[in-house]
Amino acid sequence: MVARLRFAPSPTGPVHVGNVHTAVFCWALSRALKGDFIIRIEDTDTERNTAEATRLLFDALTWIGLDWDEGPDVGGEFGPYVQSQRRPLHQRVIEQLADEGHAYYGDDPAHPASPAGNPLRLKMPQTGETILHDAIRGEIRFDNGRLQDPVIVRSSGEPLYHLAAMTDDHDMGITHVVRGEDFISTAPIHLQLYRAMGWAEPVWIHLPLILNRQGQKLKKRDPEGGYLMSDFQAAGYLPAALFNYLLLLGWMPDNGQEVVDKWEVRQQFRLERLSASPSTFDWDKLNWMNRQYLQRHSNEKLAELLRPFLEEVYDELPMQNEWLVRLTAVIRDGLNKLEDAVAAAEWAFADNFAISPGAQEALHGESAHPVLTRLVAELAHVVLLDEATAQSILQGLRNSFKESEGWKPTAVFHPIRAAITGQTGGPPLAEIMAILGKNRTLQRIANALRL
Ligand code: GLU
Repeated sequence: MVARLRFAPSPTGPVHVGNVHTAVFCWALSRALKGDFIIRIEDTDTERNTAEATRLLFDALTWIGLDWDEGPDVGGEFGPYVQSQRRPLHQRVIEQLADEGHAYYGDDPAHPASPAGNPLRLKMPQTGETILHDAIRGEIRFDNGRLQDPVIVRSSGEPLYHLAAMTDDHDMGITHVVRGEDFISTAPIHLQLYRAMGWAEPVWIHLPLILNRQGQKLKKRDPEGGYLMSDFQAAGYLPAALFNYLLLLGWMPDNGQEVVDKWEVRQQFRLERLSASPSTFDWDKLNWMNRQYLQRHSNEKLAELLRPFLEEVYDELPMQNEWLVRLTAVIRDGLNKLEDAVAAAEWAFADNFAISPGAQEALHGESAHPVLTRLVAELAHVVLLDEATAQSILQGLRNSFKESEGWKPTAVFHPIRAAITGQTGGPPLAEIMAILGKNRTLQRIANALRL
């Protein structure tokens, strides 16, 4: 039998990373089992779902690199893949449940009301236990005495999740239901429904919650960072890195090797390696993971990825590609995510940068004026300020001031760095000077000398 797994989101708003986490696990298990991955849009909450939210969902799934075998966009033999279009199928189940006495209209099972204007309730057993066999948690037992008869169809005739999703799962031949831990509490309803209909149960997999570092459930907005997919995109996390990181929230690769590509996931992913304990969303770990993926890119490719982030903030320069590639080479080691380039490359763009207190101090030291005026004089002879030329000028200044004044390298280099970047630390000076070019370097020194 071919394994069939579905991701069944409700498109009610912006896409949260928790949703995508579920999708990634569904995808991975379907691929590991060499089965089908299906997208079903659960749009029965007509008041809350929007076409825009559906579009965002598909964008997010595509962005993170998932592919699916059946869904509203690609079709398939178990369609339609939009829940609201499956109403006739739900209706058949509703009628069967009511006709066979597994469910009743109104509030009183002893005196069922008429279907018109009354909710349909599922009859739950009064005694004994309902047992959920969860593939990663084992047996979870529910005491039947505590279970109320739940509404499964609203008085308006609209089926609720319990009825619609279970019917669809059954009709679509779903073999493994992968969903969030928050569905465990209502699982007895689902099990009872399967039993009442005489359907074979799927394998149940309730994924553990993801918590923030304070141990709370992830909200859309959180002091630690935004958890919407649009937040991760805006910060410049790479899709392959986020995909990889999300998998580590609940799954452990075989040999402890945490950086795994999609192909390795297909090979290695196994239900037995899933964990039932909640995982913590760790931004430092995500940043680390993102660096692993950033580092794989050539300067050219990385420059291409950085360009939109830089262009959004710094529009005053024409960003010539070759120049941007050189800038990328200088700043890349300091980046966790693409958006970090905005701060890391500030010196290359803004001529009226702020001057840090350390840099102020360097510019007011006794070496500043002699060093900067000598540098201006040296640069005057230069035609093209490339890195090698800048390097040899800097070495010359250093040796000469050491000999004549006994100054340490910092007495020479700090004022220069302060003058051209406003900072006392950063990438190698010669690289900075080459990226700025002769005119901008001279301009910045002239500004500093006027301070
Ligand atoms: N539509 C439900 C949700 O988005 C799906 C839950 C499930 O996978 O069954 O939460």
